[in-house]
Amino acid sequence: MSQEKIAGIRGMNDMLPAEAPLWEHVEQVARSMLRAYGYQQIRTPIVENTQLFKRGIGEVTDIVEKEMYSFEDRLNGEQLTLRPEGTAAAVRSAIEHNLLYDGPKRLWYIGPMFRHERPQRGRYHQFYQLGVEALGFAGPDADAEIILMCHRLFTDLGLIGLKLEINSLGQAEERAAHRKDLIAYLEQHTDKLDEDARRRLHTNPLRVLDTKNLALQDLVSAAPRLADYLGEESRAHFEGLQSLLKANNIPYKINHRLVRGLDYYNLTVFEWVTDKLGAQGTVAGGGRYDPLIAQIGGKSAPACGLAMGLERLIELLKEENLLPEEEGCDVYMVHQGEAARAQALILAERLRDAGLNVIFHSTADGGSGSFKSQMKKADASGAAYAVIIGEDEIAASAAQLKSLRGGEGAEGQQRSVPADQLVEAVIDAFVSASE
Ligand code: ATP
Ligand code: MG
Repeated sequence: MSQEKIAGIRGMNDMLPAEAPLWEHVEQVARSMLRAYGYQQIRTPIVENTQLFKRGIGEVTDIVEKEMYSFEDRLNGEQLTLRPEGTAAAVRSAIEHNLLYDGPKRLWYIGPMFRHERPQRGRYHQFYQLGVEALGFAGPDADAEIILMCHRLFTDLGLIGLKLEINSLGQAEERAAHRKDLIAYLEQHTDKLDEDARRRLHTNPLRVLDTKNLALQDLVSAAPRLADYLGEESRAHFEGLQSLLKANNIPYKINHRLVRGLDYYNLTVFEWVTDKLGAQGTVAGGGRYDPLIAQIGGKSAPACGLAMGLERLIELLKEENLLPEEEGCDVYMVHQGEAARAQALILAERLRDAGLNVIFHSTADGGSGSFKSQMKKADASGAAYAVIIGEDEIAASAAQLKSLRGGEGAEGQQRSVPADQLVEAVIDAFVSASE
């Protein structure tokens, strides 16, 4: 008797085999792009001390206030959290292993992040991020490089419609001056603020500008602008970034309300947005976070980074029909009889030794079925060739090589080849088909 089904967890997705080629395609394009810019991969655990995120991301943020999956370790009572983002952990690891001892480092990571927010299209409890962290670089060239890299990834994937928005958050003192005026402005309008905004008015008013509440949009649009409070150095950094973007023909828009969801940013912040994914239109976001390394206990060093939401990127590729070409396997092994099965398994291994992708026919009942039903499976597998071994082939130490697709006239061609020359015959067939 079957047991009751157990379902997956709400807001967490299975990546099914039909989607795998698209994910692999994105990861492969991303990896080669990251190599082109000299980035090195880092992998950190999915669980960290809760304190890391509280200190790194900021206590008064959506993430720390309400989105973290936190729990107590039953063995030792430690407070742990499933990572909601990748930067704090990458920086924690870089400090712990003294990665910056011989100069700045360019790091990248990929993996699942966890946030307890209301699930909807493009917003999940578990989602994947591809992120980069340029640790130890101070100039606007580092910010520009990350933006250029992102732009290249989109272009390599065929995406051309994403828009870049940038802003500068300046430095702490500049934000403090702006904060005073912003609070005064918001206090004049407390009656119109929602609960979140009212609570943040005094704890973290800058975050009110980042509100998703449409009813507050006019109010926040008219609020004092941080740009008007930037000192000379901050302005020079922002202008430096802009002239590098212009010199590389990257169009951008300054969005004065862009503050980003995390507390650790200073100077540059940016987002890549699309109008093709409904409300969840931010595909990637990042910026500079010079204070963070010292904030989590390292020796002060400038840094900037970026995180990209892969579900949103993949959704956009599907929306734009930018799917990778389907790839079948190279050879499907068809066999009948005990001796043929054993021989086919050996030949399949030899073909794989030669670098070919091989599917070995197997069935649910342990038999192999008729040749006809096996050939149907071979066709459906997308294989270029079927290798067929029956009693006659065993007796003759041979195998039948049958073309399943390929050039004109090639379809259906079948010939017998000696078993010990099968690998060469298959390779020759591929070579002549490609000529
Ligand atoms: P949002 O404003 O959409 O909540 P955020 O500012 O919280 O985004 P970041 O923390 O900067 O986002 O994360 C970078 C990217 O990760 C986002 O631009 C988005 O593409 C993706 N992302 C963030 N949260 C989620 C989520 N819950 N589900 C899926 N993707 C997400
Ligand atoms: Mg968020």
